[in-house]
Amino acid sequence: MSNIQQENGELWESLLQLAEEEEDRVHEAFRSIDRTAERNQWKVIEAFKRHKVSDYHFAGSTGYGYNDRGREVLDMVYADVFGAEAALVRPHFASGTHTISCALFGLLRPGDELLYITGKPYDTLHKVIGKPGDGKGSLQDWGVGYNEVALLPDGGLDWAGIEAALTERTKVIGIQRSRGYDWRSSFTVQQIGDMIHRVKSLKPDVQVFVDNCYGEFTELTEPTQVGADLIAGSLIKNPGGGLAETGGYVAGTQKAVEAASYRLTAPGIGGEVGAMLGTMRSMYQGLFLSPHLVGQALKGSVFAAAMFERLGFESKPHWREPRTDLIQAVRFGQADHLIAFVQGIQEAAAVDAHVVPEPWDMPGYENPVIMAAGTFIQGGSLELSADAPIRDPYIAYMQGGLTYAHAKYGVLIALTNLVKKGLVVIKPHIT
Ligand SMILES: *Cc1c(COP(=O)(O)O)cnc(C)c1O
Repeated sequence: MSNIQQENGELWESLLQLAEEEEDRVHEAFRSIDRTAERNQWKVIEAFKRHKVSDYHFAGSTGYGYNDRGREVLDMVYADVFGAEAALVRPHFASGTHTISCALFGLLRPGDELLYITGKPYDTLHKVIGKPGDGKGSLQDWGVGYNEVALLPDGGLDWAGIEAALTERTKVIGIQRSRGYDWRSSFTVQQIGDMIHRVKSLKPDVQVFVDNCYGEFTELTEPTQVGADLIAGSLIKNPGGGLAETGGYVAGTQKAVEAASYRLTAPGIGGEVGAMLGTMRSMYQGLFLSPHLVGQALKGSVFAAAMFERLGFESKPHWREPRTDLIQAVRFGQADHLIAFVQGIQEAAAVDAHVVPEPWDMPGYENPVIMAAGTFIQGGSLELSADAPIRDPYIAYMQGGLTYAHAKYGVLIALTNLVKKGLVVIKPHIT
C-alpha cells in the first residue's frame, strides 16, 4: 500500500468501491473502445507489413539525411494508415502548433483568406493567425485574411453564418476536431465528412484543413478518409504512442503535403532533406503502440466522466457519448476545486509527483494556465495530464494515461485531494 492509500484508508476504500460500481456501469463503453483499439492496431500492423518495415529502417540518418529510407517508409506508413496520398512525419516539427503553422502557411498566400468554421481555434493558433501589421510574420501580417464563424449555442455549425462568410478570397477552410479548451463537443469523423462535403458544395475550390490533434485512433477512420485535403497532429499526443520524443505529422493530398514540407524546410527542398538522428525507432514503435494506448487513455476519460458525474460535477463528453478525442472536460465552477483537481493529477504521476503545479502565464495562452504534467516526455499529453486555463467556469481538461490503471489512479488521487480539502463529500461505504 502506498502512503496515500494508507493515510486515507477509509476514504480510499470508499473510492475504490465507487470505482467498481462505475466500472460496471460503463463496461459497454469500455468494450466498444477495446474493439476500436483492436481494429486500429490491425490497421497499423497491416500498413507496416505492406511497406515491409524492417530493422534497418530504424537506423536514422545524419547530415542532410538524403535518401533516408526509414524516413521515406515512415511517411508512406502514415499515409497508408490515414488513408491519404502522402504524409510527412518529422521530429523537426517542434510542436503541434508548429506543424499546423507549416500546414497553413503552406496552403495560403497573401490575399487568400482562411475561414475557421468550428469557432475560435485552439489558443496557441491565435498568434499564428495574428493581426495585420503585428510585425511577427503571422498569417495576417503576411496579408492572409482571416475569419471565423462561431459555433451555435448547441455546439453545431452555423451554416447561415458560414455561407455569408465565404468570399472570393476564401482559400482554406479550417476545422478543429477536438474541443481544445472549449466547453463544446468534439466533432466525429463522420460529422467532419459532412462538413467537408457541404462546404465544398458551396465553394468547390476551397481546401479543407483539419486540426487532428488528440483525435488519431479514437475512431476507425480519420478526416483524410472523408475528404480533408490536409490534416496535422503532434507526435507527443496520440500517434507518437508515448514513445516519440518530439515531432509532428501532416497527411493529405500529395500537393498539400508538399506545400507544408516547403514551409518546414525550404521551397524546393521539402521532405527530401532532414536527418532523423536517433528518432526513428521511437516513431515507428510509438505508431505501433498508439491504437492501444489511445484506447487506454479513452477508458481513463470515460472512467473520469463517470466518477465525476456520480459526484455531481458536469462532464463533457458524458461517459455514454461516443469519443472522437482524448479530452475529458470536467466543470468545477470554482478555482480552488479546479486547482485541487489538477494538483491531484500531478500527485498521481510516476514522474515529478513531488512537485505542486501552480497557475502560470504560459507562452501562447491568454489566461494563466495550470498544468499537471508528470510525464516521461515533456508536455506529452497521451500521458496522463490535465490543463486548465484559470477562467470562469473553471473547467479542467484532462487527457491521456499510458495505462488505464494510471488514469484511474489519477482520478482517485484527485478525488482524494478534493475530499481532503473539504471540497467534495463522499459517504463512507458500508460493508
Ligand atoms: C495540442 C493542440 C494543438 C497545439 O499543439 P502543441 O503541441 O501544444 O503546440 C493545436 N490544436 C489542438 C486541438 C490541440 O489539442
